[in-house]
Amino acid sequence: MPTDATSPYVLELRDLTVDYGGVTAVDHVSLRVPRGEVLALLGPSGSGKSTLLHTVAGFRPPTRGEVWLKGRRVATPERAEPPERRDVAVVFQSYALWPHLSALDTVAYPIRRKGSRRRTAREEALDILDRLRIAHLADRRPAELSGGEQQRVGLARALARQASLYLFDEPTAHLDTHVRGVFLDQLVVRREASGAGGLYATHDAEEALGLADRVALLNAGRLVQLGTPQQVYAEPVDVWAARLTGPASVLEAAVLGAGGGRCAVSIAGKVVTVEGSADTSVRDVVPLLVRPGWAHLGGELRGRLQSVRFRGPHSDHVVETAAGNLLIREPGPPRQVAGADVTWTLSRTWPLERPLKSPDSTAQPPLVQL
Ligand code: ADP
Repeated sequence: MPTDATSPYVLELRDLTVDYGGVTAVDHVSLRVPRGEVLALLGPSGSGKSTLLHTVAGFRPPTRGEVWLKGRRVATPERAEPPERRDVAVVFQSYALWPHLSALDTVAYPIRRKGSRRRTAREEALDILDRLRIAHLADRRPAELSGGEQQRVGLARALARQASLYLFDEPTAHLDTHVRGVFLDQLVVRREASGAGGLYATHDAEEALGLADRVALLNAGRLVQLGTPQQVYAEPVDVWAARLTGPASVLEAAVLGAGGGRCAVSIAGKVVTVEGSADTSVRDVVPLLVRPGWAHLGGELRGRLQSVRFRGPHSDHVVETAAGNLLIREPGPPRQVAGADVTWTLSRTWPLERPLKSPDSTAQPPLVQL
């Protein structure tokens, strides 16, 4: 198979399509993962994340397109290298642990395979088990561990492995929050130390945004957007991408002008200038994205508080406005009760470009120069 030894990418997908009979699970996906990068695949159930990982790992051949690993073409529809010839470590939701090995030996095994002495390998394995809070179970075999404990041993073994590329398929789906945090922190530390790349499939936006260098949004097998966590959160390509990447309110409003990182929008007859940029095919009514921290209680706009919920560090207020319902997140306990008339203001927005309807030209407000 051809190689390109100078490639800076641990993984490259070229126009990858994977079908199951009549179902297209991965649809013309092209992307590249540079060395040292973790790319999150974020999509709802059935969007093709597992199929994509299986194809990279070598468990399924492409229907069309190519898979390249470290500048080496490893799979085409005609010819695919088997998984053991690819330098990838795979961490799926279920962990096939060896029944005869203790937790410590399970985690020490990949460390020994890369040439460490027995004692060093056991010390390093114990350290990883300790970080995942299961050092006290080091001598137990899988049959003596609960499902959750087995899962942690599987994760510890994955952390101990060295590979050029790690593939994770929702590995923390059943972990409690604390252990999940420790695992993700460890993953980042080890990746930075080794320069390996990672492909991390999840349906959880918070997890994807928190751990990845870049995020790929998948919808029905298609790559909808690829960007940094900040980009996909603050500048999603459409309403679907906005809702996938976090809490999103969508107001209907007219963009009257944009420039210098600010834009003027007309909401219920009032013009406000806020942080944000817009493609000035202006004067259309567009869906405007508002994240919970981009709007605040108190200000020039009016609404009615539909519901309020105390969430510990902050409170969520749902405000009915003439432009649509809006989630406003304020620090601390609620300051208003449901049913109250409130005022609010907007500090930032992102027009989700597709116009909802043509505005009535006679009722159009004047263009605003920024
Ligand atoms: P995800 O990991 O995002 O949940 P999958 O890759 O598992 O998505 O599935 C993508 C699509 O392929 C879905 O429509 C699913 O029903 C279909 N699919 C997955 N595995 C198979 C299979 N073995 N046979 C037929 N269809 C499958």
